[in-house]
Amino acid sequence: MKSTSTLHLTPCAVFNLRIFIAAIMLVPAFFLSACKQNEKAAGATTQFVAMGTAISITVHSPSAEMSENALSIAQSEITRLEKLWSTTDSESEIFALNTSLDSVNVSEETAKLLLFAKEMAEQTDGAFDPTIYPLVDAWGFLTHQYRIPSNDEIASLLSRTGSEKILLEENDVSLLDGAQVDLGGIAKGVAGDSFASIMRENGITSAIINLGGNVQLVGARPDGEPWRIGIRNPFGTGILGFAAVQNCAVITSGSYERNFLGGDGLVYHHIIDPETGYPAENGLISVTIITEEGSLADALSTGLFVMGTEKAITFWRERGGFETILVTEENSVLISEGIAASFTLSDEYLASARVITKDTEYFPLWTEFSATAAAE
Ligand code: AMP
Ligand code: MG
Repeated sequence: MKSTSTLHLTPCAVFNLRIFIAAIMLVPAFFLSACKQNEKAAGATTQFVAMGTAISITVHSPSAEMSENALSIAQSEITRLEKLWSTTDSESEIFALNTSLDSVNVSEETAKLLLFAKEMAEQTDGAFDPTIYPLVDAWGFLTHQYRIPSNDEIASLLSRTGSEKILLEENDVSLLDGAQVDLGGIAKGVAGDSFASIMRENGITSAIINLGGNVQLVGARPDGEPWRIGIRNPFGTGILGFAAVQNCAVITSGSYERNFLGGDGLVYHHIIDPETGYPAENGLISVTIITEEGSLADALSTGLFVMGTEKAITFWRERGGFETILVTEENSVLISEGIAASFTLSDEYLASARVITKDTEYFPLWTEFSATAAAE
């Protein structure tokens, strides 16, 4: 797994937004497959539930047999990864790790993933924290038995978190100070990367997987056009716009995804701020990350959500290697400049969306930015 990547974005194809929105209302998952399929391509699609979410895969190849074969390998692989990394399955490696007092010898891929998770925790200054398990559990997000823990309980559980508590000696892993691991903020992105590798190994050049709204794309659509991936409007039922992209992951974290209404009348969601132990309230409602690797996109979607608006913008400027679309609590949409020209906004956001540039003083309106980009 690389921690940086080169993004291959394609410019937005000419497209009628009104027709798109009408079409997308009919599609429960927020993506469109090929509008105009290459007659030679044989498509195969499957849907199943894994990693706690509905997953759908579409593969295009020259033969139906090839597509079906690739589809079946991908489904088995995702089911295998779920068994390896589930926090609740008593046969998973993560379950063994979380319930053992000694070090546990894990598979090479689990050790690599833990190492990557530690690296992402470091890069995000702890905003992405793979040891957040005790808090996620205390709030009831693992069992769906939701509750509001007391301040004392939260303070005590926080003393068991911190990625430095994961020690790796090759494949031997120990967790210090009662730490426990939750890879829920990264596993779907990693599954997307595995999917992309399987497709390439099987000679598939056009495929898409949607893991509950987290999308990984292989190549372009079978007609050669970029895929058009709708980003959910966190305040409504439609989309806030769509990105025309290929060969990359489009992954969103949002407070609307999993939450519950507390007895105090407040809504509590599933992304925990490791500084406070409470659901993150730092000004953002949703964060989308677009980059080649799903693992990176997934870690950053969670991490930037926790950081909040200002820090997320600074992080994008300083780190690079990804693009982002931020939606704030005030319903402002901010689009990073590398994806702005490949993004199409729905009418509701046309007048107000702004572009994040490397220049800290310059947040142009998206309409002005795209008009300038088109003229150049
Ligand atoms: P995502 O939808 O990718 O943002 O992942 C959210 C899931 O990651 C939650 O349901 C938890 O299982 C886990 N999680 C919650 N807070 C964090 C955090 N600060 N860092 C890493 N994982 C987290
Ligand atoms: Mg994530």
